Amino acid sequence: MVEDVSPAVARQISCGILTVDLDALARNYRALRERLAGVAAGAVVKADAYGLGAEQVAPVLYDTGCRDFFVAHLGEALALRPALDDDARLYVLNGLLPGAENLCADAGIVPVLNAPEQVANWAATARARGRELPAVLQFDTGMSRLGLSGGEAQALAADPARLAGVRVVYLMSHLACADEPDNPQNADQLAAMRRFAALFPGVPPCFANSGGIFLGADYHGALARPGIALYGGAPAAGDVNPMEPVVRLDVRVIQTRTVPAGARVGYGGAHVTAGETRLATIAAGYADGLSRHLGGRGAVYVDGVRLPITGRVSMDSITVDISALPPGTLTTGSLVEVIGPHQTLEDVAEAAGTIAYEILTALGWRYHRDYVRTAEKNRGTA
Ligand SMILES: *Cc1c(COP(=O)(O)O)cnc(C)c1O
Repeated sequence: MVEDVSPAVARQISCGILTVDLDALARNYRALRERLAGVAAGAVVKADAYGLGAEQVAPVLYDTGCRDFFVAHLGEALALRPALDDDARLYVLNGLLPGAENLCADAGIVPVLNAPEQVANWAATARARGRELPAVLQFDTGMSRLGLSGGEAQALAADPARLAGVRVVYLMSHLACADEPDNPQNADQLAAMRRFAALFPGVPPCFANSGGIFLGADYHGALARPGIALYGGAPAAGDVNPMEPVVRLDVRVIQTRTVPAGARVGYGGAHVTAGETRLATIAAGYADGLSRHLGGRGAVYVDGVRLPITGRVSMDSITVDISALPPGTLTTGSLVEVIGPHQTLEDVAEAAGTIAYEILTALGWRYHRDYVRTAEKNRGTA
């Protein structure tokens, strides 16, 4: 965040440190690829790689063998293009806005075509340029969000001239409930996807997100689109997260104090101390992705000791009860663990009443970022 001072000083004066383990990211990518058993693994790097930094994350995935990168918007694709070698393919999930066709074609970005109008515009652009342009064709298999309807797909398949100039590289759809393996909507969407695929024989499917990879080979298609699992989030609900943590967040203490019984803590005086209490105020708040819903529910950790968030979360700070720690453990400038070995990303999401995706993408730009390489996990004690 701070660019005109040395990294060491920037770290020291930061409100907190967001550590991104790029080797853990690479290991997660390899683990997903292994599970895909021969099916290609792309990577979803939309929203700045879920808040972790697309310019840092995407090249590491490229070096690990990934060649297919998905973002939501054309602007994201254009920004990321220079960070990747020419043989990397960039796809725009949210589709092609009218007027964006030439920019998209000039930059060699592959749009996901979500509506008949987008197919027509892309085909017209290809014909005007006198060369084929690649695209992914998306179908709505039951999420009612993006993609051609059954009727639209049938009409398109019945009139192939409308696709002249477009090289459809994948048929795509998105699972709404892949994180719930027992949800019958998964099988319904797979069956719908097969009906769509039958209309466009020979074009490979692109179907599975992180959760879809864990639903079994039927769901894998020819190219998977994992996002959250790469970044250490759980691909499915349940107690066991097979992915390795990638993100650690430590926030700095900016003041400590001892208050008597009956003291009001934070906005609204929402918390009143029951007895004498030692408090620490830490330098991150809801503007840094630590949701107001964590007030009175969430916690931070020091040396494995749980320190409850006390009172409401402010924009730039949070007050925690540190009475469980030996006095003097924390002083101004100390770091407390928000996401780390004692509290997973999922734990924080649960306490905030949300999902890991929202926690990651909300972390924001005020933390100092350490991109680290941890080499192999469990390397032993040498
Ligand atoms: C975000 C997104 C993904 C990635 O989903 P995860 O659950 O993070 O793996 C895949 N496909 C589409 C269309 C998406 O919007």
